[in-house]
Amino acid sequence: MVGKTDVLIIGGGITGTGVARDLGLRGLETVVVERGRLADGATGNMHGLLHSGARYAVADPESAADCIEENRILRDVASHCVDETGGYLVQLSADDESYFERARRSCLDCGIDAEPVAVEAVRDDCPRLSPEAERAFRVPDAVVHPFPLTVANAVGARERGGTIGTHAEVVDVLVEDGAVVGAEVRHREASGTEEIRADHVVNATGAWAESVGAMAGVEIPMRPSKGVMVVVDYPALDAVLNRGRPASDGDIVVPHERTVVLGTTSAEVEDPDDYPKTERETDRMVEAASEMIPDVATARVVRSYWGVRPLFGGTDADIEDGRSLTRDFTLLDHEERDDRPGMTTIVGGKLTTYRQMAEAVADRVCSALGVTEPCRTATEPLPGRDDPDALRGALDEFGPLPPAEELPSDVLRE
Ligand SMILES: Cc1cc2nc3c(=O)[nH]c(=O)nc-3n(C[C@H](O)[C@H](O)[C@H](O)COP(=O)(O)OP(=O)(O)OC[C@H]3O[C@@H](n4cnc5c(N)ncnc54)[C@H](O)[C@@H]3O)c2cc1C
Repeated sequence: MVGKTDVLIIGGGITGTGVARDLGLRGLETVVVERGRLADGATGNMHGLLHSGARYAVADPESAADCIEENRILRDVASHCVDETGGYLVQLSADDESYFERARRSCLDCGIDAEPVAVEAVRDDCPRLSPEAERAFRVPDAVVHPFPLTVANAVGARERGGTIGTHAEVVDVLVEDGAVVGAEVRHREASGTEEIRADHVVNATGAWAESVGAMAGVEIPMRPSKGVMVVVDYPALDAVLNRGRPASDGDIVVPHERTVVLGTTSAEVEDPDDYPKTERETDRMVEAASEMIPDVATARVVRSYWGVRPLFGGTDADIEDGRSLTRDFTLLDHEERDDRPGMTTIVGGKLTTYRQMAEAVADRVCSALGVTEPCRTATEPLPGRDDPDALRGALDEFGPLPPAEELPSDVLRE
């Protein structure tokens, strides 16, 4: 690959590629190394919801406000990776009535449009909605396609001179005189390893951040949390449905072409590479979704898949020192925190807020390297938005392509 770069980014999910593009736009040379293919981690195994923030408005208004801000930005700069479906929060007869109004007011307080609509209007987008549906409001949820979005960021990084290395696993972090100076990388096809030196290293390995931290001699306590999604054949839903109750398992249904994705769960696991996946959990998704759309119970299950959230299990000191920039994601400046200059870690967050996370990391790296260029990712369209051909070759190159229901038809099909 390259022996020396300005910034080495470990992890080729949405966060790592997002950081690379942001830094590239500010004039820094980057190298991304990903042990598998792009989006192999949580990014390629998520629910596909571009959150409006409605789901978090009651319990975590700060995250909800971040979501709606980023939702608006991505619907513009990454419109080719987003389906503008809209969404609804639907209260069923079994749900607590007071939650519905609380949720609507909280949405409005966070700047999220939350227009009450008759249940009959929801049936325009979901004709077989449960007869138990009592009330609904419309929210600006959308469907996001994580693989093309990640590839678009990778292409953007490359357009600025960056290098993207897949099947390139970091097996050690190089520390000299107490500072991180690069990493040792093992390529799938090669027998030995290669050293890549950098002025700064970014650890964007999500649920795996702890193991990369250990290579650098710093503790990054993670609490990886698994979630399951079930894809069923169901063409009769045109908008996202959220169950109108406090967040619990299986209460979101996301349309993807002629299927819907039911999910999800959240349960802590010890090892993000090896954790139990039970039929009971997948059955529960179908059961929960069928409370909103009874026909889902008899629809053909296409497949199920699992992802692991990169939740930070940090110490109180990390939180108190303001390292959790929002409640949602955490940036660890290892010089400040561990007296280990040369490395920054970013964990937590959502795909919806990746751009904001990347901006926070890039700001920190630029300040460490004395670069004063401002962030441009909120206004600069991602590659492929205005020229669909810009992504075609790269989608093939970084494939194999994921299943059709995860891909936007305009980007991928001739
Ligand atoms: C079940 C589930 C549902 C979700 N649904 C949604 C949703 O609907 N909407 C939303 O906005 N967000 C959602 N999320 C959250 C979102 O998917 C994640 O926050 C986001 O994808 C994290 O991206 P990341 O790049 O930080 O991590 P990841 O995508 O996990 O990327 C980390 C990468 O690092 C690589 N790596 C690890 N170790 C090494 C190493 N030693 N060397 C090189 N590479 C390495 C991994 O292979 C991986 O590709 C969901 C998450 C889960 C798990």
